[in-house]
Amino acid sequence: MFKKIYKEIKKYQHIVIARHVGVDPDALASQLALKAAIELTFPDKYVLAVGNGSVKFSYLGKLDKWEHLDQFLLIVLDTPDKKRIDFADMDKASCIIKMDHHPFIEAYAGLEYIDEHATSTCEILMDFLEKMKFVIDTSVAMLLYSGLVSDSNRFLFDSCSPKTFALVSRYLQNYPFVLSEVYKPLYLRPLKEVRLEGYIAQNMKASDHGVAFIYLSNDIINQFGTDSAAAGNMINHFNFIDEILVWVVASDDLKNHNIRVNIRSRGPIVNKIAEKYYGGGHAMASGARVGSIEEVEALCAELEEITQDYIRRLETNED
Ligand code: AMP
Repeated sequence: MFKKIYKEIKKYQHIVIARHVGVDPDALASQLALKAAIELTFPDKYVLAVGNGSVKFSYLGKLDKWEHLDQFLLIVLDTPDKKRIDFADMDKASCIIKMDHHPFIEAYAGLEYIDEHATSTCEILMDFLEKMKFVIDTSVAMLLYSGLVSDSNRFLFDSCSPKTFALVSRYLQNYPFVLSEVYKPLYLRPLKEVRLEGYIAQNMKASDHGVAFIYLSNDIINQFGTDSAAAGNMINHFNFIDEILVWVVASDDLKNHNIRVNIRSRGPIVNKIAEKYYGGGHAMASGARVGSIEEVEALCAELEEITQDYIRRLETNED
């Protein structure tokens, strides 16, 4: 499949690289890294990285304005389904390629490379760029490392494999950079976010079976001077708590007129529930968007059910 993708990249003069709405570091870094690698390898090609940006991740690099192009190849990264692609003109593309690490939802491209066991789309690209002998430089390597570190939550997830570490090792060897230069912009955060984290720790409710939940209303978010995106990202700070198996942060998103729901798990498979609430994601890291607090409560009730099931099955197996 890598060879077929490479052939298409070689063939097209105009290439557009898109990814999912609600940009995150893996989606953005993979997009910018692939654009840079194509430009370094094929200096005559015209490549655009498109989609809405985010001030929070702007340190990774700049996106391009969409200009109408004739005969272009569209590469969609990190996006399992058509409705979440942050690019309105995909029907104008001459050819579409998908490269993704999410569980399969639907086919929308002529060529689809999916490895749901990879930590990140950046990891898939590390492999692809290396195998297809693209010209890359230290800044491309730093972007790819940033996305991988972010999506694996600093190598915490089971998706980190010997292949992950081997790729990272070779990239660090071949394109050396100072690790703290990646970590500083990725993890430096204002005190107000740490204070909000403290509020969540104090106020999160956990059920007897370990389903924890907090709702952050717009008033609370404003009180701490943060926003829905920052509030949602707090989800990653509540892993490895003994009494908690599944945890949910729901936060008002006034800009999008809905409630952002972030879900994480240390066992029960949560993405099937997220999909029922206009969301999706990975087995143990998912998200959704809902219209009311009642829907969040219904979602939590379903998470409670699957968690009880999960515990029951564990206990039965252990007997
Ligand atoms: P997050 O909690 O935003 O870090 O997202 C965790 C995972 O869930 C990522 O793979 C996201 O792409 C996916 N995800 C988050 N929100 C949604 C949504 N509304 N619809 C589908 N997938 C989502």
